[in-house]
Amino acid sequence: MNIPDYISPVVGYRVWQWNAAGLKSLNGEPWLPGRPLAAGCRAAVRGTIVGRPKAVHGAHELPHSDCTCGVYAAKNLEHLRQFGYEGRGIHGEVYLWGTVVEHKLGWRAQFAYPKSLFLPPDTIPFTLTQIDARLKALIAFGADIFILGEHESIRFWRNGSGFDAAGLDCLIKTRKEYYVRRQWERTLKKGDRVAVLGRGIAVVEQAGNKEVVVVLWNRLVLRIARKDIVLNQQNMRGECEANNGSGVIDRT
Ligand SMILES: [Zn+2]
Repeated sequence: MNIPDYISPVVGYRVWQWNAAGLKSLNGEPWLPGRPLAAGCRAAVRGTIVGRPKAVHGAHELPHSDCTCGVYAAKNLEHLRQFGYEGRGIHGEVYLWGTVVEHKLGWRAQFAYPKSLFLPPDTIPFTLTQIDARLKALIAFGADIFILGEHESIRFWRNGSGFDAAGLDCLIKTRKEYYVRRQWERTLKKGDRVAVLGRGIAVVEQAGNKEVVVVLWNRLVLRIARKDIVLNQQNMRGECEANNGSGVIDRT
């Protein structure tokens, strides 16, 4: 992939769909490894720009400032969120070059190519074999790959040197925590003690698939969504935010 070195490309942010076949724009346009995505223009093909029949622009001047064509990218992550793209795929930085038209929140560019990719943990397949297969499609782009963390992103794949130790550790830790949490959740049962902060001790009355019912010492019944119960793996104790306040489920 040769990004012309006589210019310093603009870097923007984009969202892609990611599957075993590779990367696609949200509108389904495939991105190919080793080849810049080049903007096309329907208006130029038709010979008109809506409302400006005489302002036809040719392929050599894509994207036109009066047109809507070009490869779109946001200026930063916050702008990407403002466009409502959060959670719709994987996001990343993208090089933009050629003719680049600047807008308030983003750019329209003639050429674009992924610079780095950030994977939310839940988009990463579960086993290393699956990960390997799915990652191949991304690795082919030669971009750096990160795992999105709550506070910071962790490098997962460094272009040229492969898997990063910190990224692999993070993945293995996440998997391990998942198993421990699932086992803990499955074994949550009637009679387990619950310490509800500020209210006192309660006992699990029912442990359903979606909801846990606990009864306080004063017979007050609290319903806690199961998904709100978070296992603190430091002390193997569940913690949750109930509708009626915070609660701690104590298994000891
Ligand atoms: Zn156009």
